[in-house]
Amino acid sequence: MAELRGSAAAKEIQEQIIKRLEEYKNSGDYPGRVPRLGIVRVGKRQDDIAYENGAVKRIRSLGMEAEVFEYPEDISNERFLKEFKSVNDNKTIDGILLFSPLPASLDERKILDILNPEKDLDGLTLFNQARLYRGEECGFVPCTADAVIQILKHAGVELTGKNVAVVGRSPVIGKPVSMLLSCEDATVTMCHSKTKDLKDICRRADIVVAAVGRPRMIDEGYISEGCIVIDVGINVDPDGNICGDVDYDSVSTKASLITPVPGGVGSVTTTILASHLLDAAIKGAGR
Ligand code: NAP
Repeated sequence: MAELRGSAAAKEIQEQIIKRLEEYKNSGDYPGRVPRLGIVRVGKRQDDIAYENGAVKRIRSLGMEAEVFEYPEDISNERFLKEFKSVNDNKTIDGILLFSPLPASLDERKILDILNPEKDLDGLTLFNQARLYRGEECGFVPCTADAVIQILKHAGVELTGKNVAVVGRSPVIGKPVSMLLSCEDATVTMCHSKTKDLKDICRRADIVVAAVGRPRMIDEGYISEGCIVIDVGINVDPDGNICGDVDYDSVSTKASLITPVPGGVGSVTTTILASHLLDAAIKGAGR
């Protein structure tokens, strides 16, 4: 078994960002301009704040800017729409990270309909979802789903013709990662809580992507010898430890490659966000 850490893929993408950012600054198209991220957060969810801190640190360490727009949990729908519109229309902001789900009192669909698809770095808008569905590469896809593909590619895993079981069908991970893998010519089975014979499906797969949100659910009974296992999960176990959706200790005895948690997919996601921000700036999304 080899451990597939995210740091190597992240480092390669960061090197590309530094080079591309230099080209962007020297191009003369946008004199003095530095790509700027707007992070929109409602409330103080601990996991949102943890991701936000990591994202701000990563963006700044790569020479770009980030600004946080924080709103109280009880903000009215009308007020939030107005505030969000002003961030969206702000010409100094090239890309937006909107934490979702929003509180139930806010009309998330309406807010996503306002979000400029060219600033939608996490591929939440219908426009970007349609681009992914059509296999068009020009749109933004969710950063975590993109991170899964980049880790596999960086490790030199050939995806063409491979059988992949994706466990989870959420709009932010399971569905987009399934579409992206299909675009890479893999044969994808997208599984969910009503899937029958889940263990058999996973055991037949060359690659298992776990995005289920259940601590250590995928154990060695789901995995065949030599399988490649990508663990997207980030959970806190009853002892307060961070763990994935995969039971690392038992699965690592069978897998040929496995991502750890922490240190796997999660460690690439903020770098992908930075890369998407630069893409948006290069396309001139702010203007
Ligand atoms: P989610 O919205 O709760 O979706 C979970 C999916 O798993 C659903 O499709 C659900 O099926 C399926 N599922 C639940 N129990 C199942 C079972 N027993 N058997 C088979 N399928 C089952 O979660 P998510 O937002 O996709 O997140 C998934 C995991 O990724 C979480 O651990 C989350 O913390 C983590 N995450 C990681 C990152 C990162 O950067 N690494 C980013 C975001 C999230 P149904 O559709 O039938 O309900």
